[in-house]
Amino acid sequence: MGQTSRPGEKPDEMLEPLPKGQTYRFACHPGVRCFTDCCRDLHLVLTPYDVLRLRKGLAVDSTAFLDQYTLQEKDPTWKIPVVRLEMQDNSGRTCPFVSPKGCSIYEDRPGACRAYPLGRAVRRAPSSSDPGRVEEEHFLVREPHCFGFEEGEEWAAEAWMDDQGLGTYNEMNDLWMDFLSRYRPGSREDLDPAKWKMFFMACYSLDRFREFVFGTRFLTLFEISEEEQEEMRRSDEALLRFAYTWLAYSLFGDPVLKLRETQQA
Ligand code: SF4
Ligand code: SF4
Repeated sequence: MGQTSRPGEKPDEMLEPLPKGQTYRFACHPGVRCFTDCCRDLHLVLTPYDVLRLRKGLAVDSTAFLDQYTLQEKDPTWKIPVVRLEMQDNSGRTCPFVSPKGCSIYEDRPGACRAYPLGRAVRRAPSSSDPGRVEEEHFLVREPHCFGFEEGEEWAAEAWMDDQGLGTYNEMNDLWMDFLSRYRPGSREDLDPAKWKMFFMACYSLDRFREFVFGTRFLTLFEISEEEQEEMRRSDEALLRFAYTWLAYSLFGDPVLKLRETQQA
């Protein structure tokens, strides 16, 4: 299963560094005595890619997904809109996707659920040698109520991430963190209401962003190659990548898009 911090818990006190090459023992399956105990009372912030995958897995559009399953709030560090999964209004405050058999959205469960109990911190290599290279550090989250550490085989971090299907999640979430680090470092001023709305739509409400790009004059205004347009029509991942480019241009003034010449007169 998977989890992130619960209200009142101090995640920092449960973190244990996992040096490269070191392994840990872990398994999570219906036979473990704490099975599904962790899927409740969580403060589970969803990344844009989590939202993309969840609403695809549920076969609903992004507006319906956001309305039905999430709460919107302001991130105190980045001062941007974030969404978190709304726990159910029952005594256990259970996740809306947990069932007696486990996670009902397993194939598209959020990155934090997939990674648990492994944590991953990343930073880009300094610009000199290999500018795009990601440097990773790993740690374990050892929570007293999780008995998975008494079970199963030994895992190294890389093998665990492969097993849990984290490749595309890590790639897309690293892009998201790059975007935030570049355009929202430290405590900056709030976004004004119009920018807040645009940010929210582009990052989380991808069906509306698709309509904005393909259902308006947008493509007559900006130079975007046929290949890139085709890729965005075909792939939500490509559209989400473009959403970050659009926000960099429109909200943060980075000249990463070019107006068509007829628009520049
Ligand atoms: S083993 Fe850990 S992750 Fe699995 S259900 Fe139990 S508490 Fe959750
Ligand atoms: S999404 Fe699935 S794995 Fe994550 S907390 Fe909910 S039921 Fe558990």
